[in-house]
Amino acid sequence: MTAPLDAAAFDAMDAADPLRDYRKQFALADGLIYLDGNSLGAASAAAFAELETAAKEEWGRDLIKSWNTAGWFQLPLTLGDRIGRLVGASAGQTVVCDTTSLNIYKALHAAVALRPGRKVIVSEGGSFPTDLYVAEGVASTLPGTRIRLEGIDAPNIADLFDDDVAVVLVNHVNYKSGELRDMAALTKRAHEVGALVVWDLCHSAGALPVDLDGANVDFAVGCTYKYLNGGPGSPAFIYAARRHHENIVQPLSGWWGHARPFAFEQSFAAGEGMVRFLCGTQPVLSLRALKGALDLWDTVDMAALREKSIALTDLFIRLVEERCGQYGVVLESPREGARRGSQVSFAHEGSYQVMQALIERGVIGDFRAPATMRFGFTPLYVGYRDVFEAVNVLEEILRTSVWRDVRYAVRGAVT
Ligand SMILES: *Cc1c(COP(=O)(O)O)cnc(C)c1O
Repeated sequence: MTAPLDAAAFDAMDAADPLRDYRKQFALADGLIYLDGNSLGAASAAAFAELETAAKEEWGRDLIKSWNTAGWFQLPLTLGDRIGRLVGASAGQTVVCDTTSLNIYKALHAAVALRPGRKVIVSEGGSFPTDLYVAEGVASTLPGTRIRLEGIDAPNIADLFDDDVAVVLVNHVNYKSGELRDMAALTKRAHEVGALVVWDLCHSAGALPVDLDGANVDFAVGCTYKYLNGGPGSPAFIYAARRHHENIVQPLSGWWGHARPFAFEQSFAAGEGMVRFLCGTQPVLSLRALKGALDLWDTVDMAALREKSIALTDLFIRLVEERCGQYGVVLESPREGARRGSQVSFAHEGSYQVMQALIERGVIGDFRAPATMRFGFTPLYVGYRDVFEAVNVLEEILRTSVWRDVRYAVRGAVT
């Protein structure tokens, strides 16, 4: 595929795209090219409708009754099973609650407790930092626990596996490079030395097909406000394989995780199955926005999603390299589609400023320190023409050096 392509060719690709109609269901302004759904997913009409009903009718009119009449109390479990379907988990193994950071804490503690006598947590030096910060927190509460990191203690994560390892905490897709790990193979390697695995799915849930049960995964966590479009700060999810349920203990033992929360007993008794991962009252309005988003996901063909994701990202890499390579942009993501999530990263000496110039022109991606421009491709609302237009804008910014204008160097708290 090396013939020159023009706008009409991309419009034809969009017209033939089986997922093209999803974009209409999102509240995206005309002309906006949103390449940051890997950081905050777009809002859907279905999410707004759920929010309105939950706020006006259930909270506004029915008040406290809604905990029973509107299914509020069960939302962590009902929504958990719907996310489970998207990540290859059969029912009863996934709950929605708390944040990814908190769920990593619970999962790591539970996993370490299931491997008594083992004192090592293995993770990645290049991990999203909260995973490492939480691992440090877990180690600080379990004297003698040590952390080994890929990239620091050995170049390859599997080289860190031995009989001392209790748990491996690993990202399915790296937040910065977009590199995708082989979940089944790495889980198998960890199990061979008797360790358990916690997979972080923040950049794969809703981005590509995931098969937790099929890969024999022990625990997984992920957030719902990125590719799943649950809304800013929508609660995260946690998965634990059924074979572990009976023996799982986690330290955030709040009343929502109790077997009989409304018996108001004096001591903790863990609830059945995944209930024991709950801690306290959950944000119902946020859960309801997520419910709306999941109504949409229920209809999505994940194989078609993956196919389009690879096509979009392949195309973006090809066009950026052809048209912007001379200006010093360097690919930081795997070139091979099968080894990539749904994002593409490029390095450039002016990454931060170039990204601000893009955003000002309606092409929204983000910047990750020290020098990465990150572009997320969410197949539900990004099309082929969008890729073409985004590269046109990037090429112009680089060719004219407009990014060197001082106003693009001003930094916000969130990049
Ligand atoms: C986004 C992200 C998180 C976010 O954690 P929160 O607790 O929701 O802030 C955690 N891990 C990874 C890999 C992420 O990409």
